[in-house]
Amino acid sequence: MAKVAFLGLGVMGYPMAGHLKNKGGHEVTVYNRTAAKAEKWVAQFQGRAAATPRLAAEGQDFVMACVGNDDDLRQVTLGPDGAFAGIKKGAVFVDHTTASAEIARELHAEAGTRGFDCIDAPVSGGQAGAENGALTVMCGGDAAPYGRAESVIMAYARMCKLLGPAGSGQLTKMVNQICIGGLVQALAEGIHFAKRAGLDVEAVIETISKGAAQSWQMENRYKTMNAGKFDFGFAVDWMRKDLAICLAEARRNGAHLPVTALVDQFYSEVQKMGGRRWDTSSLFARLER
Ligand code: NAP
Repeated sequence: MAKVAFLGLGVMGYPMAGHLKNKGGHEVTVYNRTAAKAEKWVAQFQGRAAATPRLAAEGQDFVMACVGNDDDLRQVTLGPDGAFAGIKKGAVFVDHTTASAEIARELHAEAGTRGFDCIDAPVSGGQAGAENGALTVMCGGDAAPYGRAESVIMAYARMCKLLGPAGSGQLTKMVNQICIGGLVQALAEGIHFAKRAGLDVEAVIETISKGAAQSWQMENRYKTMNAGKFDFGFAVDWMRKDLAICLAEARRNGAHLPVTALVDQFYSEVQKMGGRRWDTSSLFARLER
């Protein structure tokens, strides 16, 4: 059992922190910017809430975070009320936010000067993965602190791996998002085409999902796509944030991402259609409009 703080009780963080308490058996302190959510969490899981990231982080063995983007991450870590002002020497900061590799390296360096460790650890698996404690966690950082953090992370993960030095977790998450973007567009086009061709979409997917076209997106999203339901899963606004991070990194490392760039623009049209909070399978709505 360890002393753990969790910063950011959003769609992902709320259930993840809950697993640390119930499944991991840890002593958990939570912080959330909107205090009402932290109070609700404490009432449900019987942990402790703190008023600032710094107060939450003080005296903990591990401090986990899951907030929105690079700027949010800076706000909860740096500055006089930030977690880094409170984390004790020898502790491990684990960041589950999907952010840039640059901020991961920046926070890793800052942690080093203050005598604690930092792991970038973005996740995949969505709200359902967080609620079921079955996330995939992609980590970057040093081996020794990763070794200490892994068993704590496993309270909400089914796969957790160290992929290289600081930033490698974020770079791996970029690969994940690049793989998803083009695939969702292709699935949307396939269903759109099947409808125009007068085929029975159910029968088509039942058949081709047993062949080489099979994918997680096909298995889990074709029915809802076909029904025009886009109100669950990972939001378009978040996806555009992630694709912007991928495209910026590709400019630096020289990778060519033509389809990713195009799909990003398709999502900008979905935003214009009122779909900012629709899930990523809403590329289909753009084709059907
Ligand atoms: P969310 O529901 O919008 O929650 C965001 C959390 O971060 C909230 O607790 C929010 O506090 C807090 N926060 C945001 N900005 C802050 C700031 N400047 N200072 C302090 N706290 C701040 O988001 P989510 O869906 O949990 O996603 C969190 C991260 O996980 C994102 O990076 C996202 O890309 C990634 N992710 C999400 C999914 C998914 O399916 N949702 C899947 C994989 C990865 P308030 O309650 O006060 O707003």
